[in-house]
Amino acid sequence: MLPIERGLEIVMSTAMAKQRPDRMPAESVPLLDSMHRILREDVRSDADSPRFDKAIRDGFAVLWEDLTEVPRILNVIGESRAGFGSDVVLRPGECCEIMTGAPMPLGASAVVMVENTEWLSPTSVRILKKARENEGLLRRGAEAREGDRILQTGRRIGLADLGLLASTGKSAVIVSRKPRVAVIATGDELVDVDQQPEAGQIRNSNTYTICAQVKEAGGDPVVLGIGRDQLDDLRTKIGHGLEHDILLVSGGVSMGKYDLVEAVFAEFGVEVLFDKIAMKPGKPTVFGHRGDTYVFGLPGNPISTMVAFHMFVRPLILFLLKAENTTPNVFEAILEAPAKCDPERAALVPAFVRFDAGQYRIKTAPWKGSSDLVGLARANALIMIPRQTGTLEPGDIARFLFME
Ligand code: AMP
Ligand code: MG
Repeated sequence: MLPIERGLEIVMSTAMAKQRPDRMPAESVPLLDSMHRILREDVRSDADSPRFDKAIRDGFAVLWEDLTEVPRILNVIGESRAGFGSDVVLRPGECCEIMTGAPMPLGASAVVMVENTEWLSPTSVRILKKARENEGLLRRGAEAREGDRILQTGRRIGLADLGLLASTGKSAVIVSRKPRVAVIATGDELVDVDQQPEAGQIRNSNTYTICAQVKEAGGDPVVLGIGRDQLDDLRTKIGHGLEHDILLVSGGVSMGKYDLVEAVFAEFGVEVLFDKIAMKPGKPTVFGHRGDTYVFGLPGNPISTMVAFHMFVRPLILFLLKAENTTPNVFEAILEAPAKCDPERAALVPAFVRFDAGQYRIKTAPWKGSSDLVGLARANALIMIPRQTGTLEPGDIARFLFME
């Protein structure tokens, strides 16, 4: 059976081999819609930042040399407020009242906080504290110079980036178009979330978790409904699904008599590159492609689906988006309780992780296997237990993924 890393290599090398150099084309979106999208342009500062020598305290703009001995009384010759500034020029013995964000008057070389001053009259103030040169202000261009590259293509736009884009005047941003990801849940036992299951039926949860994972990864999910375990229905839905950038089919890929998804993939000429991974849960994960469409069969159990998505589909979506970082963030923790390994398959098991005394500490959470969403919902991480004989012991280092 293929190890997880080898499966991921196959997915990624298939994507790299496709003759689609731009992968997802770039598109322009309004700034507000750019959050969490993948940037497809280098962004340069449109001006020095700050644009002028700027006070970062409320108080008095001074000549710092006036304040080598304190207390010292200075003449107040004007006011500089945010949005206006002042045209005064400071000379020795003078100061200017100033507010945070206001331009520094000419000649000033420090700002003394208002807390360290006392008004004596409308035109004079006593300064109680010494000043250092450039204290309480930012010089023009201290953060960035006009033309400096402040954001680089491939970056996933975060909150600070959004603010930066706004402050440099980008009302529209070039980002990768989202891959369209068709989602089909299969199973005769499935009913929709608003239905009351009858004997032997369950509600379809995979469509919801898969769509959420697609969105989080940066894709655009397209729900194609529930496919029944019969060739005709699967042909119709899978045929439609193959018109998208990625097709995800959950369920129907195990060894059961009514697991027909792979047969339908074959009818459509999908080239399947693997259909088993040495992973627990998620063993029957299928990956293939047809034309420019990537195709996955995700095992139906809810947690198997999630794990298989995280390991194989998410990196592919990020690659197609041209994200600079496609691999999941893996952390290390000290194991607190023994964890049994499987010599056949690497395992991803729900776990509790906490940060204590400078380290992550982790232990597996009680759960009843790959359909147990109740157990998973109580956990906050997935611990990665390597494929090997024996047991990981308390004190061993274990790798884990955070679950959002
Ligand atoms: P399968 O991979 O089709 O053999 O399904 C494996 C298990 O996952 C079965 O117990 C199914 O009932 C369950 N399952 C399949 N699809 C879904 C779904 N969309 N939502 C919740 N459970 C599912
Ligand atoms: Mg099924």
